[in-house]
Amino acid sequence: MNNAIINFPVPANEPVKAYLEGSPERVALDAELERQYNTVVDIPIIIGGKEIRTGNTGKVVCPHEHGHVLATFHKVGEKEVQMAVEAAMKAHKIWSETPWTTRAAIVLKMAELLATKYRPILNAACMLGQSKNIYQAEIDSACETIDFFRYNVHYASKIYNMQPKDGAGNINHTEFRPLEGFILAVTPFNFTSIASNLCMTPVLMGNVALWKPSTTSTLSNYYLMQLYKEAGLPDGVINFLPGSGALIGKVATSSKWFAGIHFTGSTGTFNSLWRQAGENLGHYVSYPRLVGETGGKDFIFVHPSADVKAVATAAFCGAYEFQGQKCSAASRMYIPKSLWPSVLSVMKQYASEVKMGDVMDHDNFINAVIDEASWNNIDNYISYAEKSADAKVVMGGKRDKSVGYFVEPTVIETTDPHFKSMEEEIFGPVLTVYPYDDDKVDEAVKLCDTTSPYGLTGSVFAQDRLAAEKICHDLRYAAGNFYINDKPTGAVVGLQPFGGARASGTNDKAGGEFNLIRWVIPRVIKETLISPTDYRYTYMKK
Ligand code: NAD
Repeated sequence: MNNAIINFPVPANEPVKAYLEGSPERVALDAELERQYNTVVDIPIIIGGKEIRTGNTGKVVCPHEHGHVLATFHKVGEKEVQMAVEAAMKAHKIWSETPWTTRAAIVLKMAELLATKYRPILNAACMLGQSKNIYQAEIDSACETIDFFRYNVHYASKIYNMQPKDGAGNINHTEFRPLEGFILAVTPFNFTSIASNLCMTPVLMGNVALWKPSTTSTLSNYYLMQLYKEAGLPDGVINFLPGSGALIGKVATSSKWFAGIHFTGSTGTFNSLWRQAGENLGHYVSYPRLVGETGGKDFIFVHPSADVKAVATAAFCGAYEFQGQKCSAASRMYIPKSLWPSVLSVMKQYASEVKMGDVMDHDNFINAVIDEASWNNIDNYISYAEKSADAKVVMGGKRDKSVGYFVEPTVIETTDPHFKSMEEEIFGPVLTVYPYDDDKVDEAVKLCDTTSPYGLTGSVFAQDRLAAEKICHDLRYAAGNFYINDKPTGAVVGLQPFGGARASGTNDKAGGEFNLIRWVIPRVIKETLISPTDYRYTYMKK
């Protein structure tokens, strides 16, 4: 029996590779893009390590070329979800009793495999299937995913080290048990790293999972399953269930072994899963842990002392990288009227320089939005602004879905701080800007705080540091991740643990130890060295 006490120190973040032309990483990635583009993968359901093909299939296409099929996947029915519950509970026995250092070793092996062999595979799948350029894929499906693996092992060791004191004549310790049941991981399309993390954080802590991947990211998520297997994850610990979220959610939340949900996606979907859990509450073995990171209406607040070029750059990158489909993407901006014309002019210059198109052409900074439903939704918001008396489209606005789901980087300028696109999440490359009177900073801050139901990310730009401090304080409930003189996107694991409050989620901070603690139910054990043999207290004895 290995009885070493192992501590995993704080890791370094995975370096972002440069992908210069001719570099080994660029050559490997281009070859893999070519291979995956010319292959149609048949993606099975995976339950208890076994591949299942129901014949009821869906397609994964390139969002930037929707006529091109990358994969077909088999969808689960109710029967397969029930089978997955059984397989997960069978694996629970073995996995929950596997030493945590062994689990950690498997997770660290995942990090090593992804940093090497699987890096081009995951990056290419993420680029083709989710329409990310090289850089956006590298920071997501390679670096952030690796960082989650390595940091979570470190956080786990911190948690297991959190032990109570011994008392007089007794020894105390805490055993961090995994939850008594399975976790339902329901994952979004926009980050491969989040998809991985929503399964792997509970799993590292000894739990088992049913994984409902997002339809549009099924290809990269399937490659993750291959990576997990190669790293040594036992069969049945994660069961891969492509198919209807509504069906999987309904069946999973009605099992008595439903022990928690780890969700990232829209607020509406999380609310419906929460309601289902509530309806089944009396039926469960334990109160389920409901952890969800949801929508956002992320802001940039500009003070009159701000630097024009810094604001324009943050607004451009924060609103348009990955086509505005980061949950943290800037989607509303409050700016003094005196600064707005010069900021807009820099943004227009940037927009005239960037190219939009296929991910295989590495000159393209902007690619496509994820699918037709998303394109139609964005189209509706831009059309609404075009027809509105309170707003005008002052940059971009062109959109075309004939070959791929393309939308130009767009700015809507409005005179109404409660204009529809100042309040509602769009999830596309659209920034709505409300220019305010320079002498009404406090009123504008109040608007920023109270306009939307969300509270995910936000930035303040000010060269006056005291003004930045005040705005940071006044907006303390408006964002779970707040930035001073930086764009509101780009949180890094271990540096800026991520999550928001209000309608943006339970704020359990992915990339930090707060999240891991949700996936254990501690048992405290006291051992008395010499047990009392008399019921009387000292003062009662004659
Ligand atoms: P979505 O809610 O449409 O889908 C998320 C997942 O839920 C998918 O797997 C989907 O298939 C599944 N699903 C859909 N309906 C379901 C139902 N009725 N029951 C069970 N599951 C169901 O979200 P999306 O479009 O994939 O992602 C975009 C959303 O995610 C945005 O709102 C964005 O802000 C949010 N997001 C938030 C964070 C964060 O950290 N706060 C991070 C990334 C994305």
